[in-house]
Amino acid sequence: MSFDTEVLIIGAGMSGLGLAVQLIRQFGVRNFELIEKSDDVGGTWFANTYPGCGCDVASHFYSYSFALNPDWSRKYSMQPEIQRYFRSVAEQYQIVEHVRFRATVEKAEWDDEGKVWVVTIRDEKSKQTIVRRCKILVSAVGALSVPKKCEIPGAERFEGKMFHSAKWDHGCEWKGKDVVVLGNGCSATQFLPIMANGPSAAHHITQFSQQAQYLSERTNPTYTPFFKLIMRYVPLAMYLYRAHLYWQMERDFQGFDIEGGTSIRANLKTENEKYVKRTAPRRYWDALIPKSEIGCKRKVLDTDYLASLHNGNVELVSDDPVQEIVAQGVRTKSGRLVKADALVLAIGFATQQMLWPMEILGRRGVRLENFWDKTTQSVAQAYFGTCVPDFPNFFIMMGPNTVTGHLSVIYTVECQINFTLRLLSPILQTLPSYRSTHTTFPFSLSSLLSSLHLSAPSPQPSTVEVLMPAFLADTLWTQTSARKLVWSSGCVNWAIDPKTGLNNMMYPDWQYWYWIRSVFIRKGDFVYRDGQGKEVRSSRGSWLWVVGAAVLGFMGLKAAGMVDGEKGLGGEIRGLVGLGDVVSWPL
Ligand SMILES: Cc1cc2nc3c(=O)[nH]c(=O)nc-3n(C[C@H](O)[C@H](O)[C@H](O)COP(=O)(O)OP(=O)(O)OC[C@H]3O[C@@H](n4cnc5c(N)ncnc54)[C@H](O)[C@@H]3O)c2cc1C
Repeated sequence: MSFDTEVLIIGAGMSGLGLAVQLIRQFGVRNFELIEKSDDVGGTWFANTYPGCGCDVASHFYSYSFALNPDWSRKYSMQPEIQRYFRSVAEQYQIVEHVRFRATVEKAEWDDEGKVWVVTIRDEKSKQTIVRRCKILVSAVGALSVPKKCEIPGAERFEGKMFHSAKWDHGCEWKGKDVVVLGNGCSATQFLPIMANGPSAAHHITQFSQQAQYLSERTNPTYTPFFKLIMRYVPLAMYLYRAHLYWQMERDFQGFDIEGGTSIRANLKTENEKYVKRTAPRRYWDALIPKSEIGCKRKVLDTDYLASLHNGNVELVSDDPVQEIVAQGVRTKSGRLVKADALVLAIGFATQQMLWPMEILGRRGVRLENFWDKTTQSVAQAYFGTCVPDFPNFFIMMGPNTVTGHLSVIYTVECQINFTLRLLSPILQTLPSYRSTHTTFPFSLSSLLSSLHLSAPSPQPSTVEVLMPAFLADTLWTQTSARKLVWSSGCVNWAIDPKTGLNNMMYPDWQYWYWIRSVFIRKGDFVYRDGQGKEVRSSRGSWLWVVGAAVLGFMGLKAAGMVDGEKGLGGEIRGLVGLGDVVSWPL
């Protein structure tokens, strides 16, 4: 069966954009489209516009390795700057014209006859349902794009403004008003100080928290013009700074080990307690110092939140939860009525429903959730957090067990992109748009690379899929390893499925191992098939040729001054640089 587009990417956030850019850089392929339900690219950073929204990983590391930015204004950038960054990368690589905005993927079904994905899309502009067929389907919908629903009864009765922090109501004037905030995670900690201070401070903010968070001190220096010049002009300076930031965060992983990290956690706990006692009012110490293991929940960086608790207009309630929402505010378990003009839900995201509400059907019409019902007790799992058996040519960015408690999600997703493109390489090379950009010259670099076993084996592969035993073994390893780490030590956190106790969010190992796994893929864990469904053997050891050819080629061209990012010799150079990228560390 024919197809409308070679690669269809669901979501134009950091993951979707990153994959699209690498398709262009590494393969010169431009026959792809992104389907995005909102109005712009950027995902999280387009959607979350609450006051004070920013990242908690230093920007020089919370950015793509292939699009370093010497101009970050401060260590931890705020949402507008991060959104501008993603938008500029999308523009630089001309991705925006490949995005269908205000369109939501509702369903994707594998057609085993035609070896294509049939994707049903609801186009909000035309109010029509359209169908697109693609060879390769990538979910880049993120794990934090569906706000959690408020399950407290009575929401419909509330007469004030009520909204989730991820859908901030910018028409809400809080100056001189009473505000109730539900939640005390990263988002609440960022916006509360802004609502509580300054000339437009709220009259009174009552914040309800369920569990104490580990709040750690954060300074957020702005970068001087001199620092930015060094980043821009001193060779390797930006890479070294990035590597330094990486190592500062990566070494925290040793503290996650329940047994081996005891003393590290004990020191961090003491440090944390001292910080809270030094910064927050005494009456809240109990509510602010967690009883659970440090690291069990992702730490929250303190953005003047603790200092704001000294304000007369802020009250933190940790022992009298909201039981009901009423017309004028909320009623607590003890019967207290807290009046509110606005109710802000900072209650997090639906993380336990991976890919929900999309319907994904693999071979024989098996639904993804039914597959997980049968194999992994209804908990989402994927090989390398990316691939699922019986779902050929389907890849999940920021999939199950890919998040970290200590590092940047961008690093992790870049590893997934490397992994995905390495697996797809033999298939991409058979696609029309790859062929059209790589056969321009009879004695071209691509023909040279082809002679080094880089071209697709014959007969040509049409699909790639992880094998069931490999999937099960990887899941077992993930769950066994995760049990030894602090996330399993008993606190309520977003990573653990409450029914089974299985972890479906966190990657239970060092992140440099994750990168190594993305390069040294166990080819035996996958099967390639041709258009008739017959197994196709890929040439073993070809990655060595890829590394050798790419490194030597890249160095030679660089020395000759011929490689300048995208501006080199068009598709030929992009192909070669790209092959280097396949093995590059996203540092
Ligand atoms: C407030 C906040 C702060 C964060 N800070 C950090 C941080 O400091 N460090 C860090 O590492 N991580 C952080 N994260 C995690 C963050 O989500 C990731 O770092 C990153 O933005 C995820 O990118 P993504 O592209 O995978 O997903 P998203 O950014 O969520 O993008 C997914 C996109 O897919 C679209 N989409 C979803 N479903 C569909 C559908 N069915 N059809 C069409 N389009 C669809 C969405 O509209 C969205 O644009 C933060 C998250 C939040 C919410």
